[in-house]
Amino acid sequence: MLPPMEPRPASRNHRQPAGWWLLSLWLPFTLAWGEQIEILYEPATAIQDENSQWIWLLAGLFLFAVIVATLIFLRIHHSLQLKDAMLRQTEARLREAQLIARIGSWSRDFGSGETYWSEEACRVLELEGREQEYRHYERLIHPDDSERVTEVVAAAYHQGGNYQCDHRVICPGGKEKYIRLAGQVYLDDGNAPVRETGTVQDISERRAADLALQRSEARLRSILDATPYPIVILENAYGFPVLYVNRSTFQLFQLPFTTLPDELKSQELWMDGQERDAFFARVMQEKKVSDVELQLRKSDGQPFWAQLTGRLMDFAGTQAVFIAVVDITERYHARMELERLATSDTLTGLLNRRSFLESANRELKRALRYRLPFTLLMLDIDHFKRVNDSYGHGFGDDVIRRFGEVTRACLREEDVLGRVDGEEFCAVLTSAEEEGGYLVAERIRKRWQEEVFEFAGARFNFTVSIGVARMLADSETVDGVMERAERGLRRAKRAGRNCVIVNSGESDDGRRQTPA
Ligand code: GH3
Ligand code: MG
Ligand code: MG
Repeated sequence: MLPPMEPRPASRNHRQPAGWWLLSLWLPFTLAWGEQIEILYEPATAIQDENSQWIWLLAGLFLFAVIVATLIFLRIHHSLQLKDAMLRQTEARLREAQLIARIGSWSRDFGSGETYWSEEACRVLELEGREQEYRHYERLIHPDDSERVTEVVAAAYHQGGNYQCDHRVICPGGKEKYIRLAGQVYLDDGNAPVRETGTVQDISERRAADLALQRSEARLRSILDATPYPIVILENAYGFPVLYVNRSTFQLFQLPFTTLPDELKSQELWMDGQERDAFFARVMQEKKVSDVELQLRKSDGQPFWAQLTGRLMDFAGTQAVFIAVVDITERYHARMELERLATSDTLTGLLNRRSFLESANRELKRALRYRLPFTLLMLDIDHFKRVNDSYGHGFGDDVIRRFGEVTRACLREEDVLGRVDGEEFCAVLTSAEEEGGYLVAERIRKRWQEEVFEFAGARFNFTVSIGVARMLADSETVDGVMERAERGLRRAKRAGRNCVIVNSGESDDGRRQTPA
């Protein structure tokens, strides 16, 4: 009788079906004891000879062993086939990868002294079937590089681990190539090298490009060194490290010629960190900026005015900022002097009428923006014609100059003062209310009255009349406020001079005036 068979799930295609195993187990037992089972049910049947039972049992077991061995063999064979296929696939992929990367691999066995070259390695080194002849790589190395390569490789043989060395080889056909050799050395327990594997890569083109770049850089450096303009090249990286400075830069910044670029800190070349950051931000954004005027610092800390042109470009394979520096200190001071002369009154050194009006307009806008008061004073020296007539024009000039100094001394630094006509002055008091304006005007009037002049042994003094007005509405202009202040001034003249009249509104009524 067959033992009941358990239902089995469908076997997977590459596995041996489990039923085979059960069958092979069941078969010898059936053969050996099948009859005995029958004896149990049919005792009347003649008892078989015990030996023949054992023969059947052995035969069954043998059959079982054969089946098991066959199945094991098939299984091993199948897995070997699979591994073989995988190995071939991996090899093909490796070959393909080497072909794409143009990197060949090699391995050397120290026992046999043999070197195995991959297909791509043979192609890179142009061995063309002469692998045996060149199983010692040393034969390929250019004689001039041999010592250097030997040193690198010998160090790796000593310590194990990996190495890399760029050098020239002479291929069997005589062609010279630049090779990047990389290797990994394996040591045995006694620290002797047993095996070495590595790669060879043809870097001739890259090397040629590098050399061309180096040559063009060297040319560029010699050109830059010859230019009279200081040139600073900074790396476009955090802190803008210095890559290169030409000879003129050393001279301009008074740096010792022995200073190396990495000893220089580009931040220290600027006087103002914010100006420096703004300059770099502009270069980054606009790629090129021209004629930026700012102050730089010499190595001894002395500031100087410079005009900078900055450009974002490649240098030595790095993104860099080229800066051409022109020392404009003299030009800057000359221009400042010209500007000063153009904007100031030559007699008093105060602002002339035009630049006073410009400054007053700026102040008015500022006052409107920040909701500040804006108060203006018109000042006119009393009976000045008489001064000229009595003491001469030169003395009159001295009086005008002195009046300017006295008035300036009575104002705050941020107040704007100008000579707007002959002996007529105008002042803008920043952030002063009408009341404050009146007090300042009174201070000037009294101070001027106290100023004593001497001429031909005689001592005398002068007086001044002042009109005060303030900005009344947002729409008001400087001219409007000046006009009202002038009306106040005319009233002061009419009122007998040497007094202050505040013109508070459209009408000519002075709200405050010097007490009689
Ligand atoms: P008032 O009190 O009404 O102002 O009388 P005033 O004599 O001062 O009259 P006014 O302001 O009209 O006279 C100004 C005089 O200032 C006229 C002119 O000769 C003189 N003056 C103008 N500019 C200069 C200057 O640069 N130097 C000198 N010395 N005198 C000047
Ligand atoms: Mg006058
Ligand atoms: Mg006048």
